[in-house]
Amino acid sequence: MSLQAFVSRRVVTPEGIRPAAILVDGERIEAVVSPDQIPEHYKLHDFGNAAILPGLIDSHVHINDPGRADWEGFETATQAAAAGGYTMLVDMPLNCLPATTTVAALEAKRAAAHGKCRIDWAAWGGVVHDNQGDIEPLAAAGVPGFKCFLVDPGINGFTMVREQQLRLALPHVARTGLPLLVHAELPGPIDRATEALANADWSRYSTYLQSRPDEAELAAIRLMLGLCHEYGFHLHIVHLSTSAALPELCAARAEGLPLTVETCPHYLHLSAETIGNGATLSKCAPPVRSRENCEKLWQGLRDGTIDMVVTDHSPCLPSMKRLADGNFRTAWGGIASLSVALPLMWTEASRRGFTLLDLAKWMAAGPAHLAGCGARKGRIVAGYDADFVVFDPDREFSVAEDKLHYRHPVSPYLGETLRGVVKATYLRGNPVFAAGEFPGEPAGREYLAIL
Ligand SMILES: [Zn+2]
Repeated sequence: MSLQAFVSRRVVTPEGIRPAAILVDGERIEAVVSPDQIPEHYKLHDFGNAAILPGLIDSHVHINDPGRADWEGFETATQAAAAGGYTMLVDMPLNCLPATTTVAALEAKRAAAHGKCRIDWAAWGGVVHDNQGDIEPLAAAGVPGFKCFLVDPGINGFTMVREQQLRLALPHVARTGLPLLVHAELPGPIDRATEALANADWSRYSTYLQSRPDEAELAAIRLMLGLCHEYGFHLHIVHLSTSAALPELCAARAEGLPLTVETCPHYLHLSAETIGNGATLSKCAPPVRSRENCEKLWQGLRDGTIDMVVTDHSPCLPSMKRLADGNFRTAWGGIASLSVALPLMWTEASRRGFTLLDLAKWMAAGPAHLAGCGARKGRIVAGYDADFVVFDPDREFSVAEDKLHYRHPVSPYLGETLRGVVKATYLRGNPVFAAGEFPGEPAGREYLAIL
């Protein structure tokens, strides 16, 4: 087995940031020692002042493969992720065809991913209106958890669930012990708001924002907290956008409910005040809200009500963004950001006094725990996979198309100057991104929760 030592003055371990050497034997971390304790015969990689963080884990990505690989796909998504410092992605069960709502569909996904992934991956199973009988078989087949929508996801092949259908599904979910990830918006408040905006100007961002009010998120979260209480399953709220829900989420955690919460870089970086008319590249659901709301989400991260930050990388064909007419009603909602999420987060976090330790918690350890791989990935600790990102936190760069690496290089962040540069990414001891290149053959594997 190959013996390697990864050295830096800023190694981000769970105990703190310190000068250290990470000793790697084959694919695993053997020990984390002081830089003067490197044994002989170890191949040395000295990164100097650049920080070494645990490889990032993104538990919320839409890879769209099989079926809509012209939107994204395993090759391009995992390549963009490697360039962004990620070493594992967990794919959402919709947007692909078939949607991952049966074991047969999971097998189709495994076939689509075979030989194409530059980093490790896993797939969430879907909970839809009529697949209650597939939930436990999907768990047995190795999914790390489930995802459902409380509002129409706006894509063929994946249905929303209402309370009645949730009540049929939740006993099965609870028996698996796996988390249920919930897109928490209810259709009622959205439908009422949208009806009132029938004649509004849909090229204005404010129209779209009004059509997806805070109440839609709040009502959905209240419904789910009640069901969590009743059925005792692990509830995970995906892409929290409204800060108005934070007090209730905080109280539910204090009460001991098995609850976790994520938000996304776009909610922490963009704000409604800065999204111009027709700027549909910034459309997502739930929507980016006010600057004041954004600051409250940062407060939620600070006080621990929000556990993690994941991308919700959700690309589409560029034409679906309707850039020519800039119509927020008809444009596809979704923002692709795998390759720039770490610098986006560092740009915002560093100016608020957070450290790389916070980023490692939000973008590696937190999502790893959710995805069931927290005992093997997401931290720089002996026995863990040798997954690292080498990150220069002091350099700046300008976001350009050639830095994006996913299938269609469109982004609301093009032209922005961000802080922090991903220099290299290592998957189980091997470089998967270095100096702008992707060395070696795709060697990513499915991470199976059942192993
Ligand atoms: Zn999503």
